[in-house]
Parts: sequence; C-alpha cells; structure tokens
Amino acid sequence: MKCTIVGCPGEYEARSIVHTVRHHGRVIVIDHVPAEVCSACGDVLLGPQTIRRIEELLETPSQPAATVPLYEFAVSSR
Ligand SMILES: [Zn+2]
Repeated sequence: MKCTIVGCPGEYEARSIVHTVRHHGRVIVIDHVPAEVCSACGDVLLGPQTIRRIEELLETPSQPAATVPLYEFAVSSR
C-alpha cells in the first residue's frame, strides 16, 4: 500500500513495532505491535483491530510482562 504522506514515494510494509502511549499520565510501552510502516518516511499505520486491542490492554489492569527504564530528555533547570 502506498504511503499516505503527501509527496512520499514509500510503501507500507508489515512490521512489528514498539508502540508507546501515554495513558492517564503513565507511559505505557507495548512491544510486538503489528503495524504498517512506510519504508521511506517511517510513518506508522495501526489497523482498527490493533487499536482496539491496545485500548483493551490499557483498560485492563494487568501486570506488565517487563519493566523498562524511562529517561526524561528535558532536564529541569536547577
Ligand atoms: Zn512515507
């Protein structure tokens, strides 16, 4: 499928990505999310079923499979 970004010659290809969302102020990282990724600009498309699954994951209180270190880029001035 052709990329939807205007002027981009790339095509979407099926990939497994790491998806990061902010949910109620918490950063949630979901690994192995099936997505369509543009080979040229890296634009990511998630299917409606994938989005529904992610919403389910966010709404269901469950134990994460793993924890990741979270770094803050913008360091507050002292
Ligand atoms: Zn593109």
